[in-house]
Amino acid sequence: MAEKQHIDIETIKAMMNLTDEDLEKPLPLPTKWSQPFWDAAKQHRLVLRKCSKCGNIDHPPYLYCTNCHADEHEWIEASGRGTLFAYAINHFGVPFPFWADLPYVLGMVDLEEGVRMISNIVECDDFETIENGMELEVVFDDVSEEITLPKWRPVKK
Ligand SMILES: [Zn+2]
Repeated sequence: MAEKQHIDIETIKAMMNLTDEDLEKPLPLPTKWSQPFWDAAKQHRLVLRKCSKCGNIDHPPYLYCTNCHADEHEWIEASGRGTLFAYAINHFGVPFPFWADLPYVLGMVDLEEGVRMISNIVECDDFETIENGMELEVVFDDVSEEITLPKWRPVKK
């Protein structure tokens, strides 16, 4: 079993002569057309932008439908269920703000609604159990006052 060995944030600061500012994680900057996605995430809801003309769902949300170019759309509630398409376990070589999280998992998640989302796979300390095709469910991480990140965890059998 792969052991998780966290580096303390204060150790990183001292080691690399960094300030608190250097260790601030970059956050998503909502656009006019993605704002509803972030507003919903803040309420711990996962929504997707669905074209009212052709039914295509775009994720990340875009300013028009990437299938038929229509602007008319609705926001639908996603089931919050998906499967793992691919993943990477990061052990090193990431920007400073993420050092304290190492090792961590990034995944490409295929949602039941047919779109693919990139996010962290969490609550899976035993990396040996991670495999493509595994069932995942969304969880919400309130990382700031404004931003909540949808992340994914294995569905407990
Ligand atoms: Zn469309």
